Amino acid sequence: METTTGYGYQGLDAAVLARFAAMAADTASRIVVLDRYVEKETGSAFPVRQGQVLRISCCDGPQVCDFNAFAIDDPAEHFWSGRTRTLQGAHLSVGDRLWSTEPKMRPMFTIIADTVPRDPLPHNAASHDLIYARCSARAWGLRYGRFDMPNCNTNLTRALQAAGFPATHVHDAFNIFMTTGIDEKHRLFFLPPQARQGDFMELHAEIDTMVAISCCPGDCNGDGNKGLQVTVYDTRPGA
Ligand SMILES: [Zn+2]
Repeated sequence: METTTGYGYQGLDAAVLARFAAMAADTASRIVVLDRYVEKETGSAFPVRQGQVLRISCCDGPQVCDFNAFAIDDPAEHFWSGRTRTLQGAHLSVGDRLWSTEPKMRPMFTIIADTVPRDPLPHNAASHDLIYARCSARAWGLRYGRFDMPNCNTNLTRALQAAGFPATHVHDAFNIFMTTGIDEKHRLFFLPPQARQGDFMELHAEIDTMVAISCCPGDCNGDGNKGLQVTVYDTRPGA
């Protein structure tokens, strides 16, 4: 059966993809501008400037990373999970872009590296989820009857506040390393991450951003909650 694809977005052309591939391969000329370990069940916020590369690593083993991003000069312009899902698909990898909210609706990041294997899984499940909403105190309350559990919504909010950035636009995340799908009864499900210790994703910033991440304290991490390593690189020669 013929299907339509997104809104007809054609993606990046071969020349642009080749430029990003070269950037991902050229790790020797990078300059580290931030290298931070984020403790398990906590969050962190930090700027990533246009042209820089952000690497998020499963340094301790598989760990889901809830990712938020904002235009650094306007927190009302932020990552738009729904638009990105429509344009790029339900699970992202190299060559996909993260899009911002209206009215600018522009690329915020391009994924340039992803070391997580994409093995065939039931119901077409895959890594790097754009289906699930971020976990929150109330979501855990519905599930467990407790409203005091660590959660991504609180982690992202606290991280932005600690960085001195407005936290009024915390939004549904790009769930890096989370393996998800939709079953035959149209229910969402998740599997243990396919990511292994040392796996990482790299995102190239297309605009000046403030990023907030949460080491998801949920039960989507397979064998327990862990920390994540975030590294920001300057890729511009001589910068
Ligand atoms: Zn979470």
